[in-house]
Formats: sequence, C-alpha cells, structure tokens
Amino acid sequence: MQPPTITDVLEARTLLRRHLPPTPAWSYPTLDHGPAASLTVKHENVQPTGAFKVRGGLTLLAGMEPGERARGVVGYSTGNHAQSLAYAAAQFGVPCAIVMPRDPNPGKARAVTALGAELVEYGANFDEARPYAEKLASERGMRLVSAANEPAILAGVGTAYFELFEDAPRTDTVIVPVGSGSGAAAACIVAAALAPHAEVVAVQSAEAPAAHDSWRAGEIVERPNRTAVEGLATGSGFALPQLVLKQRLKDFLLLDDAVIEQARQILARDAHTLAEGAGAAALAALHTYPDRFAGRRVAVMCTGGNV
Ligand SMILES: *Cc1c(COP(=O)(O)O)cnc(C)c1O
Repeated sequence: MQPPTITDVLEARTLLRRHLPPTPAWSYPTLDHGPAASLTVKHENVQPTGAFKVRGGLTLLAGMEPGERARGVVGYSTGNHAQSLAYAAAQFGVPCAIVMPRDPNPGKARAVTALGAELVEYGANFDEARPYAEKLASERGMRLVSAANEPAILAGVGTAYFELFEDAPRTDTVIVPVGSGSGAAAACIVAAALAPHAEVVAVQSAEAPAAHDSWRAGEIVERPNRTAVEGLATGSGFALPQLVLKQRLKDFLLLDDAVIEQARQILARDAHTLAEGAGAAALAALHTYPDRFAGRRVAVMCTGGNV
C-alpha cells in the first residue's frame, strides 16, 4: 500500500468541491497565542458531520469502482469515522453498515442511523467488533474501510491542509492532533509540496500514546488506550500513516487530558468555537510547550466539534 501523492490530493480537491465548501481558517484577536508570532485556527469542526474525516470518506467512495461501491461499505468505529462513511454512503446512495460494540454512546449511534446507515451492535469492545465487521463485509460483498490504512482517505483529508496553506501560506508550524495519524500524514504530504519551509508537529494524549510511541520506535506498537479524548483514542499505530510520518513529521508531543479540556474551554470562550477534546488538542500543545513554538506562525487544526 502506497501513500497518496500531492496529485491525488489535488484530484480529491476537485471532486470534493462538489460536496463540501472550504472551511474557514481564522485568527482571533482574543485568542491567546503565547509567545507564538501568530495563530490561525483551521475550522474542521464546522463540517456537516462535525469533523474533517468526511473529506476522506467522500474521496474514498468517489474513487471506488461503481459496481463495488453499489454493494456498499462497512466500518467499525464509535465516532467520526463512522459518521464520515455513513455521510459519504448517503451521498452516493449506497448501503453502509457500522459495527459498534454493544451499548454504544446513544448520541453517536443516533448520528449514524440519522445518516441512513445500518447500526450493528456486536461484542464487548473493538477487538470483538472488528472481526465481526470483517465477517459481515465478506458475507455481504461489501468493502471494509479502515480508518487510516487507506490511501484515498489520506488524499481526501489532505485537502484540508491544502486549503490551510492557501489561506495562511506563511505558516511555519502546523499542529495536528493524532489518533490513527491520517490527518498528520496528510499534512506532511501537502506541506512537502506546498510549503516545504513548514513543519508538521503531531500531538496525542499521554493516556493513549500508541501513534506517538510507534513514531519514536520506528515500528508499530500497541499501548494502553485510557484517554477520555475520543478522537485521539487508539491502542495501536496504523501502518500507512506511520510510513509517511517517519519520513516527514518534525516532532510528536504528548498532552494531558486535563489541559486538552482547558483548551476546549478557551476555544469556546475566546474563539466562540465548539470543539470536541480532539479538536482542541493542537491548541493545548501551544499552551503546554510555549517555548517550542516561540516566534513561529502557528496553525492549529480544530479537527472536530462532536462534543
Ligand atoms: C479522528 C479524529 C482525530 C484524529 O485523526 P487521525 O487522522 O485518526 O489521526 C482528531 N480529531 C478528531 C475530531 C477526529 O475525529
């Protein structure tokens, strides 16, 4: 499996224009940027599904061969990946099944069914739900879609960073919150092509450091997943994003959940922005490591608002 190129991102950009308007990138005079020279917030929280992932889901479905697409897609996720797939499947008028562990968060279950997807509850946790999703996909001839080991998803997600560098071309540092790493990998691919002077810095919760530890170790590792910050909650590194991060990511920082929650409140108060924890994590990094970003023109990815 090869990572996408900037050409794939450009292609995704052309097709996404038919589905989603660009999201805003704003600076707020009231939002404290510490010793950074400036601060831009890229607002993926205003996507129709409340998170950037919809870019990846739409791009993946658009690129599927029509016969395969008509049979539908299966995902396993409690959160924004599920909504992204369900949204894209509805746009293309194809079936979508989402497998969640039993007794899922009612709000998330409702979001998926409101988009017309079939919700299948199975197993006590994801280790049990995942094989069931594989079985369902093969029985029904549907395509099982990984959250991040999918080049089309990285290409679609890259369009957010394309827009960011168009709006803020002098950005020195982009801070990206990481769960699987699709967003940070996409940022690396786009920055290399459009803004080679810019560094990409990833952040993750110290309570679920699998992607961070995989990057530092240079191999995929598993780690306990105890964070309350849902978009950042993964227990294992993902191969495709890690391949890109290994080549081009500048730095990877860990954060406390409590500081992420404070950053969420700061965004609400000073930028009238409703972010979920993961969507505020990049700002939390700026406040946790002010010296790391001193004098730099910083952009933070507000990845989602499903709180
Ligand atoms: C999925 C998600 C992330 C993490 O993105 P990855 O591409 O999985 O690293 C961050 N924030 C939000 C809101 C998300 O939904």
